[in-house]
Amino acid sequence: MQGFNKYYPPDYDPSQGSLNKVRGKHALGDRARKIDQGILITRFELPFNIWCGTCNNHIGMGVRYNAEKKKIGAYYSTPIFSFRCKCHLCDGWFEIQTDPKNTRYVVTSGARQKDEEWNPEENGGFAIHDTEKEGAHVDPLVALEKTTDAKHHMETVQKPRIESLQGVSEHYNSDPYTLSLKARKRFREDKKIEQKKKQLDDNIKDRYALPATMSLLKEDDKEVEAAKTEWQKAKQEHDLREAKRRKTTLDITSLMSSSHLSMKKSPASSSDPLNSLRSQILRNTAKRSTAIRSIPTSSVLP
Ligand SMILES: [Zn+2]
Repeated sequence: MQGFNKYYPPDYDPSQGSLNKVRGKHALGDRARKIDQGILITRFELPFNIWCGTCNNHIGMGVRYNAEKKKIGAYYSTPIFSFRCKCHLCDGWFEIQTDPKNTRYVVTSGARQKDEEWNPEENGGFAIHDTEKEGAHVDPLVALEKTTDAKHHMETVQKPRIESLQGVSEHYNSDPYTLSLKARKRFREDKKIEQKKKQLDDNIKDRYALPATMSLLKEDDKEVEAAKTEWQKAKQEHDLREAKRRKTTLDITSLMSSSHLSMKKSPASSSDPLNSLRSQILRNTAKRSTAIRSIPTSSVLP
């Protein structure tokens, strides 16, 4: 019986070797019963549909057998194995081999393989072509090593480029202290300018109660000039309007005085209610405007 567990009997003597050796068993147990012929029993699953050569029955892909696995050769360094299976429907044997060259299995004896290789060209479809050129090197490293073109390219382009890059790198790494000093000095200056600008912006924001998160535009001389001219234009217009308004007020005042006179001259007009109302309004407004304008003179008098 094969030793499945770690039980060591009391009479076991380590000097005799391992437990399997003492019992005369292989570590792989019954699967290694033909190991002296180079055969190991393994579980093998049919990779395709076959017909048994003895009973002519169809055996489906995926049926598993306890196959006798044996190394029968090698393709370069890859071993070629054969699997000998006994048909489960009859007493016949069939043999399947690995084919490392074409990465597949082939039936060598005792059965027929169902041909299920699909060739699109044969069936009215499009053939699949190899787009890679014959003999082209897929591996760039292989290409670099083996083609003269690549070598030439390396000599004329790659090497000078790498050398120039190395030169630049050496130039920058020769005196890191000075470079660092320069960079830090510039950062400090930039920081000062930034802080000054921030303070100015904050002042403006405070003055006009703008939100603190709002970002202001950078001051530009042209913009400032344009804004100034715009402001001057608007101010001129405003002044003009103001002058016009003042003139109308003066006109109203003069009208008031004249209507006052005419009222005195012709009392008949006061009989008209609309006219009297208008003159009343004019008088009231005129009085006020004269009163306002008389303030400075009266304040000067005492
Ligand atoms: Zn059979």
